[in-house]
Amino acid sequence: MTEPHIYPRDESGRRVGWIEVVCGSMFSGKTEELIRRLRRAKIARQRVEIFKPALDNRYTGDAVVSHDENAIPSQVVHAVEQILLLSSEADVVGIDEAQFFGLEILPVCDQLAREGKRVIIAGLDQDYLGNPFEPVPQLMAIAEHVTKLHAVCVRCGAPANHSQRIVTSGDRVLVGEKDAYEPRCRQCFEPEPSVEPEKKEKTERVEA
Ligand SMILES: [Zn+2]
Repeated sequence: MTEPHIYPRDESGRRVGWIEVVCGSMFSGKTEELIRRLRRAKIARQRVEIFKPALDNRYTGDAVVSHDENAIPSQVVHAVEQILLLSSEADVVGIDEAQFFGLEILPVCDQLAREGKRVIIAGLDQDYLGNPFEPVPQLMAIAEHVTKLHAVCVRCGAPANHSQRIVTSGDRVLVGEKDAYEPRCRQCFEPEPSVEPEKKEKTERVEA
C-alpha cells in the first residue's frame, strides 16, 4: 500500500502535512478507499472534515456515499475556497469526486498540506475517452502518495483501467449516470463505440 502509516512531526511537535491521491476508473472503489482512510483517522480521534463538490448531487446533500452505501457525513462545497475556510480545525481533510473541481483545487490542497494537514483526495483520472482528466493527473504529480485502483473488466475479467460509456453522449461527464458506464480493461475499451456524427463534433469541441 502507498498509504502512509507514519505521522511525522516537525521540531515543534506539529504534524507535517501531505497529499494522498486515490484515483482510478469508475467502479474501482475510490470512495470506499477514501472512507476507509477517513474512518481510521476518526478512530484515532483525529479531526476529520470531508468535502464533495455541489455538482455531485446523486445522493444526500451531506454525506459521501460509496456504492455499497457506506456513508460518512460530508460537506457540499460550491467553490474550492470554502474547503480552506471550513477545514481550519481539521487534522485530516478528505475530498471526493475531484474531477468535478477545476485546477484551482491544486493550490488549495497544497496550502492544506503546508498547514500540517493530511489531505486525501479521490477522483477519476481519465474521462470516457481515456484522456487524462484534470485536475487528477496534476494532483498525482504534486502528491506525496498515489494509489491507483482498478475495477474488473465486465468483458474478460482483467483489471479494468477504463470507464466505458455505453450510452451516446458527447458530454465529458454525466453526473449521476452510473448506468451509463461499465468497467473495461485496455484491450476491451472502445473509446467511442457508437457516438453519432453530430455528437462527435460536440465531443471534439469539448476536448479542444
Ligand atoms: Zn477486458
